[in-house]
Amino acid sequence: MVEHAQNCYPNECCGILIGSEADGKRHATLAVACRNAYEGEQKDRFEIDPRDQIAAERKSRELSLGVLGFFHSHPDEGAYFSQTDLKNHWPFYSNVVMSVRARVVSDAKCFRVDVDQTASEEEELIWPKS
Ligand SMILES: [Zn+2]
Repeated sequence: MVEHAQNCYPNECCGILIGSEADGKRHATLAVACRNAYEGEQKDRFEIDPRDQIAAERKSRELSLGVLGFFHSHPDEGAYFSQTDLKNHWPFYSNVVMSVRARVVSDAKCFRVDVDQTASEEEELIWPKS
């Protein structure tokens, strides 16, 4: 996930988190890097390539896991959930946002969107900082 964010810099990266859930905790075992299919300036927008999304869903079934959520990066911006993010993310899923500055991921936070897509709540994120 971090590598993908750094490689895509200064554009936004995107991908899908696959894993399992137990006792209210989600554990991502695999981060699937996806192509950013947004047809415009990709430094502050992304759109997951639908082919990659289908492939990730298939992969999760093969591994008997589930899609936990999505990740994307904010090049030269903080790890926050923007109004655009709110509009473009489904409820239920966990969404990791990484801040990338000078090609280095410096921060990451995770958000979950409410059912009306009007507000997001931060979730605790434990990730291996290097
Ligand atoms: Zn965003």
